Amino acid sequence: MVAIVQARLGSIRMPSKVLKKSAGHPLITHLLDRLKKSTLVSEVVVAIPSSGVNDELAELVLAHGSQIFRGSELDVLDRFVATAKIHPAEAYVRITGDCPMIDPGVVDQVIDLFLQEKLDYACTGTSYPDGFDVEVFRAEKLFEAGEQARENYDREHVTPYIKRAARTNSRTLEYRSDLSDIRLTVDEPEDFGVMDSIFQYFGPKHFGIDDIEALVVEKPDLFLANQHLQRNAGAQMKTGEKLWARAKRVIPGGGMLLSKRAEMFVPSGWPAYFSRTKGCQVWDLDGNTYLDLGYMGIGTNILGYSHPNVDEAAARVVRDGNLSTLNSPEEVYLAERLTEMHPWASMARFTRSGGEACAVAVRIARAASGKSKVAFCGYHGWHDWYLSANLSVESALDSHLLAGLAVEGVPPELAGTSIPFRYNDLEELQRVLSTGDIGVIMMEVERNTPPLPGYLEEVRALADRFGAVLVFDECTSGFRREFGGLHLGYGVEPDIAVLGKTLGNGYAVNAIIGRQEVMSAANRTFISSTFWTERIGAAAALAALDAMELEGAPREVEQIGLRVRESWESIARNNGLAIKIQGLPALSTFELDGFSQAHLKAYFVSEMLGRGYLVSTAFYASLAHTPEIVEKYLGHVDAVLARVSALGPEGVRAEVGSGGAGLGFARLN
Ligand code: PMP
Repeated sequence: MVAIVQARLGSIRMPSKVLKKSAGHPLITHLLDRLKKSTLVSEVVVAIPSSGVNDELAELVLAHGSQIFRGSELDVLDRFVATAKIHPAEAYVRITGDCPMIDPGVVDQVIDLFLQEKLDYACTGTSYPDGFDVEVFRAEKLFEAGEQARENYDREHVTPYIKRAARTNSRTLEYRSDLSDIRLTVDEPEDFGVMDSIFQYFGPKHFGIDDIEALVVEKPDLFLANQHLQRNAGAQMKTGEKLWARAKRVIPGGGMLLSKRAEMFVPSGWPAYFSRTKGCQVWDLDGNTYLDLGYMGIGTNILGYSHPNVDEAAARVVRDGNLSTLNSPEEVYLAERLTEMHPWASMARFTRSGGEACAVAVRIARAASGKSKVAFCGYHGWHDWYLSANLSVESALDSHLLAGLAVEGVPPELAGTSIPFRYNDLEELQRVLSTGDIGVIMMEVERNTPPLPGYLEEVRALADRFGAVLVFDECTSGFRREFGGLHLGYGVEPDIAVLGKTLGNGYAVNAIIGRQEVMSAANRTFISSTFWTERIGAAAALAALDAMELEGAPREVEQIGLRVRESWESIARNNGLAIKIQGLPALSTFELDGFSQAHLKAYFVSEMLGRGYLVSTAFYASLAHTPEIVEKYLGHVDAVLARVSALGPEGVRAEVGSGGAGLGFARLN
């Protein structure tokens, strides 16, 4: 009877947990010392992944006087089979490294049951606390699983195949009372806290499950800190989900962009992190591949992910040098390229992100107009100038950004300096401008709905009449119909335009372009940042512009978007659903009448994820969305919307069974 303990340092949820010390000893040695007290286990082997990161664990186990075997990290079943071949036995006991409080008495009881009843498989049941898990199985069953099991799940979790194969000759041992809500395993930091206080409570004295049961009655508070965690949650979770949970402990909000938070898509099951991309394919941390027919990097990649020419331009920069005391020549070439593309503009500045580019545009526009107030419409980033709109009227940004957005940390002194206006409402803009001191009008040319005839021309005229600098924020709309900005198509020229997102096709670069007399106001203020000089951004943008022009990307993504919209319409109609589609064709979003958007989105995302797609209730078109890929996607959308129709709003809500997905920016119509 050989016990195989699987342990590693690369746990996603809590790296190096088995080395954490409690009552003076690493958890793994607690586990091994306890296991050695079993009278029926004849030999203990710790099966450790062969990768170098686990060397420290291997050395510690050897120094502790235990045996080790090094094998595959992800194919844990193979690690067990290989261990078993070197340590022959009639049967094996599986113990996992996250159970340092394992009770040797319980181990012996399970082995005894296994032997007495001549079973193929025996294990502890859920009435035992989580962390007292023991499994015993016959050697032949292990080898059979090693040969036959194909699914990743079976190979990662070692025993599912064995359990299925031994179904008719297996038993589960239950405890005399129900301790299922006690967690004495280590998956999360709260678990360690509970375990640590219990090891400290008992000190050097050996304790078993009976002592734990007594302690639960005597000191229930000791067991509270990890009660909210779910049993075996990890087995069902994707690696990315585990990492996302970890991220939220060390990164406020979990990540840097609201629109990439896992909760914005679906309450559970979102892969959250990627390892690789190509075209519109995205690989998660478990090696699963998805087709991205959703946000495509939140609108950054209309050429598709990992475009060879753009990547090569970036790679060349990496080889030659990305930054030095001297400047990057590419920024001059890019400024010239963009001002040629926009004949009304003659100068450019660059930043990394869109929010900073908008802040730069506002600073230059304020300096040029000599007036500080901003009239704005739509979303323009996270900076103080913008968020201050929510200081004076709590709901000012509700229809521009996120309803109820909190703005703590924005100086209250800025109240009244940024004033919102509604798109396509000239009277409102005129009213705002009449309040005086408006030096800047900041808006998107078009987002949710097209401009009414003459609207943009009239905005231009109002800007001139009131002495305000007109800024078109084309961060996101640029290159999604016109090569340059949408304003080129409408024939209305701003004083400044901001371009970004897809400008570098996935590399960080935004541009602020403008008339010479306006842009030169930048010389009368201070706008400067070290990493705006980084070479990759400008080099990638030059390559992306060449590729976008050559491949006719702006017109093509609009056509792809139109095709998808038409199909959404007909799919919805055929399924008896009333759909509302908004946005530029290449940035389309949908809602269904009568359905809560939060629940619809969570349901749609979850169903499509199961079919191998990363989506939202949105489609951001890219050249990687070939007709074949789009057709397949639409086939799945049809199947999912048929279910949505059959379930109805209440059914969808019940299926999602939570508050649903987070909702993104609601832009003004
Ligand atoms: N302006 C507009 C119109 C945008 O759509 C965005 C991004 N959604 C931004 C500014 C901000 O860009 P970034 O997220 O790169 O800061």
